[in-house]
Amino acid sequence: MAARGPNRRAVLGALAASGLLSGQAAFAQAAPKLVVIGGGFGGATAARALKAYVPAADVTLVEPGERYYACPFSNLVVAGLRALSEQQFDYADMAAVGIRHVAARAASVDASARDVTLEDGSTLKYDRLVLSPGIDMRWSALEGYDETATSAMPHAWKAGAETLRLRDQLRAMDEGGVVVMSAPAAPYRCPPGPYERASLIAHYLKMEKPRSKLIILDAKDQFSKMPLFLSEWSARYGTLIEWRGAADDGRVVRVDPQNMTLHTDFDDQRADVANIIPPQKAAAIADAAGVSDSTGWCPVNPVTFESTLQPNIHVIGDAIIAAPMPKSAFSANLQAKVCAIQIARTLAGAEPAPTVLTNTCYSYVAPDAAVSISGVYSNEMRFADVPGAGGLSPLDASAAERAAEATQAQAWFDAITGETFGA
Ligand code: FAD
Repeated sequence: MAARGPNRRAVLGALAASGLLSGQAAFAQAAPKLVVIGGGFGGATAARALKAYVPAADVTLVEPGERYYACPFSNLVVAGLRALSEQQFDYADMAAVGIRHVAARAASVDASARDVTLEDGSTLKYDRLVLSPGIDMRWSALEGYDETATSAMPHAWKAGAETLRLRDQLRAMDEGGVVVMSAPAAPYRCPPGPYERASLIAHYLKMEKPRSKLIILDAKDQFSKMPLFLSEWSARYGTLIEWRGAADDGRVVRVDPQNMTLHTDFDDQRADVANIIPPQKAAAIADAAGVSDSTGWCPVNPVTFESTLQPNIHVIGDAIIAAPMPKSAFSANLQAKVCAIQIARTLAGAEPAPTVLTNTCYSYVAPDAAVSISGVYSNEMRFADVPGAGGLSPLDASAAERAAEATQAQAWFDAITGETFGA
């Protein structure tokens, strides 16, 4: 790994300098019980940051999986350019930094008793709870797309077995076949993710099955980095790739996995390989904890990430309503740190303090070329774009500039996974 876990002295020094933590007063309190549910980019980072900022705390990470498969870079696996093993991380190093990993699924949360019940019926008491459970699919919100449909039409929107299934279906497809992707309306995990995937599938087809076709049926008319993707697709893949937005009858309203058909309002599209990225919501534990609202996502105080629906429960990552901040690993990681700082401040009797957050998402448009989007957000009253900050890769960048962004993407992946899961 290129990057190491947080160095506590460095982190504390930076925080003291930033004014977000007020020196040793933060740690005066007796061992508070801090529980984190979800060991992904948000939760594993939150557990580490809490232990770094409140060293006396008893920090427990509840995550059923012994292994975690990272979604960033999983589109390279789909296209046969990377092994799934390179996406695999674990929690073996958590104990070394003083975090207890409980390999169990949280079944419910009692906000008034301040305890978490695990699937085996045992309970964990907490003073503060951080939830970073990621997403669940909204099964059947797209007619015909339930859990059983994923064997014929994988979503591959949680990395792991489905990533390989989609890759293998592409490999098994005959030359001249038709691949169809269905992209959902916002909000969903990783706004540019479907279009990075389309780019890399198009690359695979161009190399291996050049008479094949990729059709993207989209529930929307605008998408992240759209001018960059459209320009790169036209230059690199020509007519091999076709995108149809909602205004062009691109919104899929029903799927038929038996007949491998996607239906829009006015058309039926047969597919040899179908990748359905369905509508999503905060993962089920958010509902069980009472922190999700009628949108399926979790409203939070933007400064503290504390749920606006339940006290002492903080929610971060893909599960929250934080637009214009995207649902990304970069966002989840930063939200985890800011949330941990605010919990540390609260435990020390300090007032929460607003700050500025950022996000950068890289997308591969070919194995050796990437584009990026960056945003800067204030969180004083609500999450808001900082005007004039952030931006997109230039539309007319040289091959060398695109290649440099691909190298930066790899460095970013190594750094964030090293920080989240490394020793
Ligand atoms: P997750 O990382 O999904 O972690 C949630 C964890 O909670 C899981 O490990 C799960 O097992 C656990 N959990 C759920 N329920 C429970 C429960 N009841 N009890 C205990 N544990 C539970 N982001 C980027 O920044 N850059 C990229 O390039 C990028 N590329 C992507 C490409 C693809 C194809 C996809 C699908 C996503 C991509 N993302 C990218 C988005 C990124 O993967 C997510 O935004 C990120 O994983 C969100 O982190 P999280 O902690 O909210 O959720």
